[in-house]
Amino acid sequence: MLLPPGEPPPPGFHYVCTRCGACCQWEGYVRLSEEEVDAIAEFLGMTVEQFVARYTTVTADRRSLTLIERGDGACIMLTGENRCRINPVKPYQCQAFPNIWNFPGWQEECQAKLAPDDEGE
Ligand code: SF4
Ligand code: SF4
Repeated sequence: MLLPPGEPPPPGFHYVCTRCGACCQWEGYVRLSEEEVDAIAEFLGMTVEQFVARYTTVTADRRSLTLIERGDGACIMLTGENRCRINPVKPYQCQAFPNIWNFPGWQEECQAKLAPDDEGE
C-alpha cells in the first residue's frame, strides 16, 4: 500500500499511541487492501459484499476502497468511546501512523508519546 513518507522517530525510539482518537476523526481516506477487506468482513461477521456495500466507498482515483466517513469526517468504525470497532484487524494505514508514515505538522494533531524501543508498547 502506498503511504506518504514521514519523519521517522529518532533511532532507538518509537511513538506510542495514547488513543486520543484524533487520527480517526480527521477527514481523509482509509484505504483498504483486498486482504483487509476480507479480514474486516470476517471480523464483523459479514460477507464481503455486505461489508463493502455498508461501510466502504471507492476513492476518487478509483484505485482502492476506503472506509466511509460520518458527516463530521470521523471514520465510520470509530465508536462513541473513541475506540476502533475493528481494532484487531484495523487497516495497515491505521497501524502504521505515526511511526511508519506521517505528515508535516502531525504532532500538532496527534498525542502519541515518544518511548525507547526497549520499553515496548
Ligand atoms: S479503522 Fe479504526 S483505527 Fe482506522 S481510522 Fe477507522 S476507527 Fe480509526
Ligand atoms: S492521533 Fe496519534 S495518539 Fe491519537 S489515536 Fe491517532 S495515533 Fe494515537
